[in-house]
This record gives sequence, C-alpha cells and structure tokens, in this order.
Amino acid sequence: MSMSLTHWVRSGIAAAAGSLLLIAGADAGAPMVKSAAPGFYRLLLGDFEVTALSDGTIELPVDKLLTHTTPAKVDKALARSYLKGPVETSVNGYLVNTGAKLVLVDAGAGKLLGPTVGKLVDNLKAAGYQPEQVDEIYITHMHPDHIGGLMDGDKLVFPNAVVRADRRDADYWLSPANMDKAPADMKDLFKGAMASLNPYIAAGKFKPFDGDTALVPGVSAKAARGHTAGHSVFVVESKGQKLVLWGDLMHVAAVQFAEPSVTIQFDTDPKAAAVQRKKAFADAARQGHWVAAAHLSFPGLGHIRTDGKAYAFVPANYSVPH
Ligand SMILES: [Zn+2]
Repeated sequence: MSMSLTHWVRSGIAAAAGSLLLIAGADAGAPMVKSAAPGFYRLLLGDFEVTALSDGTIELPVDKLLTHTTPAKVDKALARSYLKGPVETSVNGYLVNTGAKLVLVDAGAGKLLGPTVGKLVDNLKAAGYQPEQVDEIYITHMHPDHIGGLMDGDKLVFPNAVVRADRRDADYWLSPANMDKAPADMKDLFKGAMASLNPYIAAGKFKPFDGDTALVPGVSAKAARGHTAGHSVFVVESKGQKLVLWGDLMHVAAVQFAEPSVTIQFDTDPKAAAVQRKKAFADAARQGHWVAAAHLSFPGLGHIRTDGKAYAFVPANYSVPH
C-alpha cells in the first residue's frame, strides 16, 4: 500500500513537472500557421447575393509595366500607399446569385500562371457553392488570369455552364492566324485562350455576344473596349441597387485612381483603355453605385468618390449578411 502511495506521489510529481514543461513549451511560442482565411466575401445587393472569390495573388512589377508615366512617378505613388514594386496584386472573380441563375464573372487563372493563383474554385466551394451549379460564366476579356480557371487539364471545370464573352475577344484570341502573326512572347496568351475556350466551343457551350447586351435578368454586358478589343464590364442590378464589375478597366489602385491616364503594357489600345477608365470612374463617382475590379485588393468591392480632379476608392465597410 505504501509502495503504491509512494508511486502515486512520484507519478504526481512527474505529472506536475510534465505540466511545467508544457507551460515552458508554450512560452517558447506556438508554431506559425501561415495560411490565409478562405478567400470569399459576401455582399447582398437588392435581392441578389454577390460573392467575391479570390483566385489568389500575383506579384506584378508595376513600376516596369505601367505606361504613360515614369518609374519614378510610379514609385512615389506606391510609396504613398506604403507599397513598392513588385506589388502583390489580387486576382478576383465574382459570383452572382440572382435567385434564378448562378453567374460567375471571370474564372481566374487556373493552371496558366503558377501556384500563387488558380484558387477560385476552392474558394467557390468554401463559399458554399459547387462548380456544377454555375449556369453562366461571363468573361470580361480573354487574358489568362480571367479564363484559365475554365479548364482543369482536359476537364471542363464548369460542366453545366454556358460561357459568354464579346465576340471581338473571341475573334482575336481564338484565331490561329493571329497567333502565328503575334510576337513570340505573346503566343502563350493565344494558346491559353484557345486551351480554355475551345473545349466549351466544341461542347456547344460558348455563346459570344456583341457589345451592350442584356444577359440574364438583372445582369448585362457593356462594351468597355481598349484593354482588349472586346473588353466588357458587367452591370448587376437588383431593387435599385447597382454593381458594375469592371474586369481590367484598371490594375493599380495606388496609381490609377489619382492618375486615370496611366496605362499598362497589357492594354491592346492604351488610349481607348484610359478613356474607358476615366468614364467609368466619373460615372461611379456621380451615380454612387458599387464597383468591383479583378485586380483591386481583395475583395475589391467599394465605391468611388472624387478627390480634387482625380478619384479615390472607398473600400466596402466590412459587413456580415444576416
Ligand atoms: Zn487581369
């Protein structure tokens, strides 16, 4: 009896010492987790539910990419926003549930641009949806970060969806003749567009539109050509509330709100792209409607106000739907 009592006492001391060791371990710090929260954000717009979906981020050397400015001016503008090049740039898509239709605007990069992007489908699932539920996909333009997510190898990621984009972008980016004529460093853009869209065309699931077009009730396309030949924005309206999904009407918030005339090397027609950007900023500031853009810092939703002769972005106030 006394043996076992001694044993218990000893065990107790050992256990207490163990707890002390655990506490000492806690003092040394918990391991870092280093992962992000799921990338979705919900906005209720009238009767519609809009979900911003993160595709991830990509490092953009914006000091080298922006045109109609100088690297020194870009660096100065970035510094005012506590940034420097290369800027970690969001890639966003937007899911609109109208109640009758589930519409995805832009599909992310899929596997076309490396491992830091291509997460849109994971985030769509985290947001409570499945890719099979998507009825319609509207593509602002056929650059890889907006279309790569349509395919996973040879599998349609959205098997029940119809894909829609302006026919000018389809005619340009899906043309083998244009690819042959393009400089070597542009050919991958054509290949990416063809690999992403051609399987939907073959399955009879691609329906191009021609400029301003009503798509499903509450969602329409509006031509905003310049960044590409068929670049479109999508207007979402419900119960008097309005959101305009800008696609790549702009790329660098820290620079282009203050100076909308600054363009980017990716623009097919930089002059036209700048005109469209100025018009969109002016409309949004005057009308006070919601805006979202593919490369605004996630979730990329907010409003625009004038700021002297320029503009400023007012990010959405964090809101929990209920
Ligand atoms: Zn883009």
